[in-house]
Amino acid sequence: MATASATAALPKIRHTECFIGGKWLAAASGKTFPTINPATEETLADVAEGDAADIDLAVEAAREAFENGPWGRMDARDRGRLMYRLADLIEGEIDELAALESLDNGKPYNDARTADIPLAVDCLRYYAGFADKIHGSTIPIRGNYFTYTRKEPVGVVGQIIPWNFPMLMTAWKWGPALAAGCTLIMKPAEQTPLTCLRMAQLAQDAGIPDGVINVVPGYGPTAGGAIVKHPGIDKVAFTGEHRTAQLIMQNASQSLKRLTFELGGKSPNVVAADADLDAAAAGTHFGLFFNQGQCCCAGSRVFVDERVHDEFVGKLKELAANRKLGSPLAHDTEQGPQVDEAQFNKIMSYIDQGNREGANCIVGGKRFGDIGYFVEPTIFEGVTDSMAIAQDEIFGPVMSVLKYKDWDEMIQRANATCFGLAAAIWTRDITQAHEYARRVRAGTVWVNCYDVFDAAAPFGGFKMSGHGRELGEDGLRPYTETKTVTIKL
Ligand code: NAD
Repeated sequence: MATASATAALPKIRHTECFIGGKWLAAASGKTFPTINPATEETLADVAEGDAADIDLAVEAAREAFENGPWGRMDARDRGRLMYRLADLIEGEIDELAALESLDNGKPYNDARTADIPLAVDCLRYYAGFADKIHGSTIPIRGNYFTYTRKEPVGVVGQIIPWNFPMLMTAWKWGPALAAGCTLIMKPAEQTPLTCLRMAQLAQDAGIPDGVINVVPGYGPTAGGAIVKHPGIDKVAFTGEHRTAQLIMQNASQSLKRLTFELGGKSPNVVAADADLDAAAAGTHFGLFFNQGQCCCAGSRVFVDERVHDEFVGKLKELAANRKLGSPLAHDTEQGPQVDEAQFNKIMSYIDQGNREGANCIVGGKRFGDIGYFVEPTIFEGVTDSMAIAQDEIFGPVMSVLKYKDWDEMIQRANATCFGLAAAIWTRDITQAHEYARRVRAGTVWVNCYDVFDAAAPFGGFKMSGHGRELGEDGLRPYTETKTVTIKL
């Protein structure tokens, strides 16, 4: 007899308003917008639709907290202690947070429970440990002077994040900002505001002073645009699409505020002829289909040595055909729906285009079920470099397999993209692996693995995949200013 798989309990939706200066407030306009469950297409909650007026209030609160509140005077060790406490509170609520993330985003509960949230907790703890280790240096200059540098917080920061890893992106942004002593205004993505709002309450429960963290949900051009243009914000940290980043750069030009960007990718994943093909197939499958293919670093261009191409593609096909789609809350679901209808439609149009341009769809290619924005795991073989599915970031479960014969030519092709976020290679030849790591133009290179993330390891893009880095010590730097002090002796 078949047994029903275990399912996560439905979480409570506790917060739908703006969190400003430690208070839950309706949007100044009184407007709300719906956030939907992408597995059922039903509205989960109506959320405050913040805009410029709410951003003004949040900037006021963040500025006050930065300049006059206890945060600015707090011992760095105590700042770190509050961050550890926030990490503990998140960990203590992990089941409910994982279910809420799953409900709002569509990602499998199990992924949120075992990947997103543990990584978010690690990130907060990693940067909590940094709070009291941010220091300048003494510098021997010419003449009879004593010169030293101080590392000071950059000030009030605006943080704008996408919907694909709502809690994790929140932690990646809050961690270094809080460690450095900044105050912040975050705008979560309009598709997935719920877990970020819950984290704001947990931050208050942890004792982080009011006004240090402000969360204003709303749409990109309004709430996001107001953050970018606000003269009272010293820095904007943005994660999202490169086209949005281009607009942000223009809009921030008046105030010349500091900008860091984590953007998209079209990452090459290379399978050499000497690779362990089973491990490579499992890693390649994971590297593209994890999170419904909605990863900035997804290995969406798979270059396979022609000598092992057919055998390898057979393995990929079998894995994709057996991937378990279904309710994101079911514990054994491997793939949920795409985040919303717009993403679903965009992905389906790329699948159409792949078929029209002559690529060979060997598995998937269709909608899964009648309700919810599910797309079958899809693999195209016979893809050529100029096809749209090999050029554009699809941000869905669509893999393009390209054949290669010549090593040097393959590296050129791997680099022939405006992006440079991540790259991978599967090989037993360590010299070949190092050569690839050196020559590929990408911010992260994985060898015989994929999507290995750690709060200590910097992540970010070459070329149009970004500006600056997140995570590691590099991720802290954009949240500090260096002040040079010189004293005549
Ligand atoms: P998006 O650029 O459409 O939106 C991202 C955020 O920007 C949202 O909060 C949105 O409301 C806001 N926004 C939109 N227009 C704005 C404007 N004019 N001014 C200010 N803010 C604005 O991106 P998305 O579709 O939500 O996310 C997918 C993209 O994010 C992909 O390209 C993906 O590769 C990228 N991403 C990158 C990383 C990374 O670390 N490099 C991580 C996750 C996602």
